[in-house]
Amino acid sequence: MAAAVASWNATAATRLSVGGPAPSASIPVHFQAAAAPDHGLYDGQLGAIFVNDDLSGPSLAVVVAHEIGHALGLVHVTDRASVMNPGNLSTPPTPGDAARVAALWGACPPASQ
Ligand SMILES: [Zn+2]
Repeated sequence: MAAAVASWNATAATRLSVGGPAPSASIPVHFQAAAAPDHGLYDGQLGAIFVNDDLSGPSLAVVVAHEIGHALGLVHVTDRASVMNPGNLSTPPTPGDAARVAALWGACPPASQ
């Protein structure tokens, strides 16, 4: 979880966090057994992420980052390397992904120190 959130924050200057004080918005992440081809799912009606509990390490972080991308409004892309490639287990959020998030939501202002 932390690695997935860190990858978005580093690439897209988002301010996502895991746990901590009551956030203004939150997305629960559930881990559950699923068939191997199913890495994860963002359920927009529930506003929740589901992740196959057979994942670990870097591929787990990429899958959670992919589902966060869906939660942010991104769709699958196949024309370039992207965290949003279908079935992606290795590509973290890219500058192109960050640009798409900024196009949807606007760029985050610099964080105050
Ligand atoms: Zn997807």
